[in-house]
Amino acid sequence: MPPEETEQSLTQGSIDTPDEDYRLLIENQTDLVVKVDPEGRFLFVNPSYCRTFGKTKAELLGSTFMPLVHEDDQAATAAAMAKLCQPPYTCIVEQRALTLEGWRWLAWSDTAVLDAEGRVTAIIGVGRDVTERKAAEAALAEATRRLELAVEGGDIGIYDGSVLPFDVTVDARYLAMLGYGVGEIQVDLQSWRQMLHPEDLDRVLTLAEQVTNGELDRFEAEYRMRHRDGHWVWIQDRSRIYERDADGKAMRVAGTHIDITRRKVAELKLAYLVDHDELTGLLNRRGVWQSVQRIHAQGLRSGRPCCLAILDLDHFKLVNDAYGHGVGDAVLKRVSETLLREVRQADWLGRWGGEEFVIALPETNEVQARTGLERIRESVAARPLEINGQEIRVTLSIGFATCHSHESDPRDVLARADMALYHAKNAGRNRVCYDGNDSGVYAVSMAVLVQSALQTARILPAFQPIVDLRDRRVVAEESLARIVAADGRVLAASAFIAIAEQLGLLHRIDSMLLNATAARLKSPGESTECPLLDFVHLSGDLIRHPDILRALTRELDGVCKAANGVLPLVLTLNERQITAETEQVVRALSPLLDLGCKIAVSDYGGDDSSFRFLIHLPVSFIQLDAKLVRLAGESARARSILATIQNTAQDLGVTTIAKQVEDEATLQRLVELGVDWGSGYFFGRPSEPS
Ligand code: GH3
Ligand code: MG
Ligand code: MG
Repeated sequence: MPPEETEQSLTQGSIDTPDEDYRLLIENQTDLVVKVDPEGRFLFVNPSYCRTFGKTKAELLGSTFMPLVHEDDQAATAAAMAKLCQPPYTCIVEQRALTLEGWRWLAWSDTAVLDAEGRVTAIIGVGRDVTERKAAEAALAEATRRLELAVEGGDIGIYDGSVLPFDVTVDARYLAMLGYGVGEIQVDLQSWRQMLHPEDLDRVLTLAEQVTNGELDRFEAEYRMRHRDGHWVWIQDRSRIYERDADGKAMRVAGTHIDITRRKVAELKLAYLVDHDELTGLLNRRGVWQSVQRIHAQGLRSGRPCCLAILDLDHFKLVNDAYGHGVGDAVLKRVSETLLREVRQADWLGRWGGEEFVIALPETNEVQARTGLERIRESVAARPLEINGQEIRVTLSIGFATCHSHESDPRDVLARADMALYHAKNAGRNRVCYDGNDSGVYAVSMAVLVQSALQTARILPAFQPIVDLRDRRVVAEESLARIVAADGRVLAASAFIAIAEQLGLLHRIDSMLLNATAARLKSPGESTECPLLDFVHLSGDLIRHPDILRALTRELDGVCKAANGVLPLVLTLNERQITAETEQVVRALSPLLDLGCKIAVSDYGGDDSSFRFLIHLPVSFIQLDAKLVRLAGESARARSILATIQNTAQDLGVTTIAKQVEDEATLQRLVELGVDWGSGYFFGRPSEPS
């Protein structure tokens, strides 16, 4: 409507004296219609207005409308009224007013009524309740605000656009995540690919392809993108195709980028700790076990040989004892570094536990493995480590085994490598031993050695002192079997006893040792007043050879007579032998006991220990199990068991002896427990065999 016409109709007609048609229209309006003077006093109100405010026409006319308006909206209302004095003489104002139903939002469309001189004489307003609309608007604004907060706080970058041809726009946050400002780079298919981490590219492209051709509905991936300054940013990319063509091919895509670097780094660190050892940084048992399984499985599949090796530091306990655990740890670290330097790229090295390591060697045969492992052993043995200004020499024993095609469980291979390690230890340590043929070769050569030593009487006793723990006075000696090889090398019992036992030769070793001891007792040297007790080991094998026992009894009878009825000989038996055949042992030994020999039980307090046999066998000495003695250092329970053994022994008048005492602390512990005697490096090493 042109302004002149509006003005005309408003100035000429009047709603407080309307035509009949207008009157009907105004009276029946659901909208509110009012006319006020320039000061806001009501000149006219329609019935809808009266109903809304619960007031009569008479009550309203002459009063001003402003008191009905919400305090907070009065200023805006007044300003709108003031604007009505200027063209275009209309305004729209929204205000809260106090109606019968309480505060409601009313939207007013106001028009000024002008006189012939153009002065405002009145204002006509048409109002409508817009409370519902206002509430909806407020809710929308709130939702928008929240979304913005989420996008901003969550550092969410947004992209959207066409898939084919690729034409996607990215927002400022998307770019900022990668270190760019708006307009600094163009993100197209090629630049996006270039920014992706090469290790992630294939995976991401495959997924994108599946989403594009309709196999997958949505795209979700975590991958790395290169930041402007070169580092990698982990991105979580989620998108959806919101338009596809008739064939289901993607046309338009929208998605978000979230920077998840922090979470990813934490996850990766956690994953690292799960299978790595904290001290050495090598794979831990769990980690290296996974590699072992993988390489074993690969070997089975490919039919190519692979090897597993177990490496164990020699006499590491002595390093700890001598320098303390801190230095022990430093040694472990340094040895790990050497190992890591020496293993091949393809090998997997890990700390199996304590001072043991495992190496898995893929696609490696026995000869290649031996060469590599010898190099490793050599490089550890060659240079002493310098730690805290001290030079510490350490060596490694290594056992290894090849994976056999029939072994489906790598545990079996490790068990064979462990066996080989055991051989390496027995053969004198600081060496590499191979399971299978090699241990066979080892056994055969050892068997030959034992037999020839027996024939040429080169099995000789070495003597180790046994002391009274209270005053450290030497009270006895133990005869230990040694083989002196043709080249002068001396082999300890642990190296050949197992093989001698397999060959059924133990009784001959025993008798050779006993005869040597008998000879010694016959000519005791200078200090004759108080001959030392001699402990000699007696194997079950000898018990089963009564002829040898008889000959021995005759020999010892001679010794006894020569020494005026004194026979300072203690026969040591293993607890296992005694419990298995107590009666037989008692019967076989009684002639020797009659001569005055005493009996000692060795390794007492081992895994299957029992007190039972003490009822039948007159035992004078108990040699405590070395492992139990060592455990007593750490475990209060082990100490209780030792204390119980000690009490029982005391009740029975049996002397207790601890072996392998290597330090002052152990000695003190043993004294506190009341253990009587002891032997070990702390008191004296075995003599040279004689
Ligand atoms: P060998 O293997 O030559 O027979 O003698 P060993 O003394 O090395 O043998 P054993 O297996 O009886 O002792 C291993 C020692 O290694 C016992 C323990 O005190 C020490 N050990 C194990 N783990 C750690 C460790 O993490 N740090 C330190 N410092 N010592 C350790
Ligand atoms: Mg060990
Ligand atoms: Mg060791």
